[in-house]
Amino acid sequence: MGTPEDIPAAGIEVGIEADARADSAGLAGPARARHTAPMNPSDATPSAPPAPAAAPLVLPRTGIGTDVHAFAAPGSGTPLRLACLDWPGEVGLAGHSDGDVVAHACCDALFSAAALGDLGSNFGTAEPQWKGAAGSALLAEAARRVRAAGFEIGNIAVQIVGERPRIAPRMAEATAALSRAVAAPVHFSATTTDHLGFLGRAEGLLAIATALVYPVDPSARP
Ligand SMILES: [Zn+2]
Repeated sequence: MGTPEDIPAAGIEVGIEADARADSAGLAGPARARHTAPMNPSDATPSAPPAPAAAPLVLPRTGIGTDVHAFAAPGSGTPLRLACLDWPGEVGLAGHSDGDVVAHACCDALFSAAALGDLGSNFGTAEPQWKGAAGSALLAEAARRVRAAGFEIGNIAVQIVGERPRIAPRMAEATAALSRAVAAPVHFSATTTDHLGFLGRAEGLLAIATALVYPVDPSARP
């Protein structure tokens, strides 16, 4: 067994021998260079600078959020507010706020990714000023809190599950409104449960969101 110091020397000898063989074979240029290159990391020459210490791996963080609201009674006059948009003519969602399940799920996912609690712990009874706030306002504030904690937002993906309203005609508009509130890309999609369960009976709406954030300023974290 050679000492660690012996290994680079052995590498040089291999290189010299390879050069001699290359010369005798009439090889030159790139072919020689290939023979003299270290065959593996243990062949590094003694003059090579020490490898810099590996920087700590900074991983992004994912978060998940869900929200459910029941539809208000038909005829109650409750307006529908969904994905930061108004939906005239549609029955709204019940709740203490505007019931924007899409915006609320996005908030929940952002807080989850940044380990800042959830929607309730941020905008619940401890902070009554947010009661009744629009989903867009909550989403913008959630994004602000995540950034204040030393993160940047990579993206959010959010999916609504339910029978109505028809999302497709306003998908691009909703995506733009959500992305504007977060100041980061939000991908919005919609699906149904094939008429199964409370969502299939159009008793309410569910939204599920994932968020990806990455640390940019560890010193900013509380
Ligand atoms: Zn909600």
